[in-house]
Amino acid sequence: MLFGDWRDTRAALETAFEKIGEKPPESGYRKRDWNLVSEAISAYREAQAFECIECKSAIAYGGEIRCLDCRATLCETCAPRHFWPNGRPKETVDVVK
Ligand SMILES: [Zn+2]
Ligand SMILES: [Zn+2]
Repeated sequence: MLFGDWRDTRAALETAFEKIGEKPPESGYRKRDWNLVSEAISAYREAQAFECIECKSAIAYGGEIRCLDCRATLCETCAPRHFWPNGRPKETVDVVK
């Protein structure tokens, strides 16, 4: 499970109760409601997951790098090659004489 997941679950539950016009239970959320919402969130994240256009591997939620030129989604490994096809420019430029 991703770090911070329970906070997302709590926020989603609070919003859901509000949307259906109910107050969250004073005694705390029921386990079933909690599980339902966590599963809904992870299913949603899976549906939103991207695939790297270069290596075709799945990119974890929020880990995608999008190219501003061609809108492609890339993983961290392939992104540098996509952005700098001839190798990333060096910080210090070696002048060839
Ligand atoms: Zn890749
Ligand atoms: Zn591109």
